[in-house]
Amino acid sequence: MAGKESAMVAAMATINPSYAKLQAGYLFPEVGKRVRAFAAAHPSARIIRLGIGDVVLPLPPPIVEALKAAAEEMGHRETFRGYDDRGRGYDFLIEPIVAHLRSQGAEVAEDEVFVSDGSKCDTANIQEIFAVDNVVAVTDPVYPVYVDTNVMAGRTGAMAADGRYGKLVYLPTTAENGFDPALPGGRVDLIYLCSPNNPTGAVMSRVALEKWVAYAREHGSIILFDAAYEAFISEPDYPHTIFAIPGARQVAIEFRSFSKTAGFTGTRCAYTVIPKELCARDASGAEVALHGLWHRRHTTKFNGVSYPVQRAAAAVFSPAGSQAVHANLDYYMENARIIRAGLAGAGYRVYGGVNAPYIWLKLPAGVGSWQFFDRLLAEAHVVGTPGAGFGACGEGYLRLSAFGFRENIEEAVERIKTKLPG
Ligand SMILES: *Cc1c(COP(=O)(O)O)cnc(C)c1O
Repeated sequence: MAGKESAMVAAMATINPSYAKLQAGYLFPEVGKRVRAFAAAHPSARIIRLGIGDVVLPLPPPIVEALKAAAEEMGHRETFRGYDDRGRGYDFLIEPIVAHLRSQGAEVAEDEVFVSDGSKCDTANIQEIFAVDNVVAVTDPVYPVYVDTNVMAGRTGAMAADGRYGKLVYLPTTAENGFDPALPGGRVDLIYLCSPNNPTGAVMSRVALEKWVAYAREHGSIILFDAAYEAFISEPDYPHTIFAIPGARQVAIEFRSFSKTAGFTGTRCAYTVIPKELCARDASGAEVALHGLWHRRHTTKFNGVSYPVQRAAAAVFSPAGSQAVHANLDYYMENARIIRAGLAGAGYRVYGGVNAPYIWLKLPAGVGSWQFFDRLLAEAHVVGTPGAGFGACGEGYLRLSAFGFRENIEEAVERIKTKLPG
């Protein structure tokens, strides 16, 4: 009995106390638990899952071909590859990444790109190069990873009754302010921004981004910009990268991923851009370039993305790969259009879904987001994600994802219209 034995030792290793501050039930496990309980009680119900943000379409053939060809190379002594000595990505992938960024208005050098196995880990790991007493601002609602990883790092106080952590600065982002959060009242050190946004589906305008870059320049803050959904922007004039904003190179880090844009959630490839002029102060007040710190961190704790996966990611930029990936993006965005139009027709107020694969449904007055989640599951057999799971300001909203097969999306919309009109 482990418990009995451990009680007999006088001293014992101690856990990171910050983990004890984490909220017990992470959003998606709770959603999963409720769905499993419903499915067990109603075995004949055909449940349609528009909850978790994961892609459903398979990798397009040009990408699979690149993956296979690279796997074959690994089986021959002439073409076998071991460690990537540089650890931050091969040129055959970094070159098209940089060309792509430049085509979107970002002036980026090749050695400012760090290829990784995911933006979830990059947005989480980046805070390791900042002091623990930095003040962090997040939007509310927010992608939970930014909050939970800062809790783990000890950068927050305890969680209050409203689900908010002490010391974190929350920026309400709701229909009332047009999903354009106001600047913090005082100064903050680090600001996480995600555009197009998960979960609200809103996209930041050039003017909004300029406002944040100006704030960061004035206050010596750093913007951690998550552009995981940039490829879903369909309307012209919205920046795809924060580096399209003059002055952003001195104040921002950008995270990008092939996960949602190219169906790589199970293949794993992403990249982070850190401009060389971006600095923060050390304990003596001297300015230190963050590029060097991240390079040190990345090459110390990471040995690079697998060679076949980097080849697959490079194929995303080939003419055939790019065309196939865009066809998939169009498919998801047509799903989003169907959800938006269907639910608006059923009397709901809907946000998002134009430049992002998420629809942010405003619930009828007085209806809680978990309450609506349960009703949607019980009556329409459709799974959404309760807005409250993304923060206090997500209460009264539900997120629906456009990542689904067309027939399921159409059926889900029909069921909501007939069983749960707004
Ligand atoms: C899905 C997602 C990512 C991408 O994560 P990966 O680890 O690259 O799969 C990053 N940020 C947000 C907000 C996301 O929703």
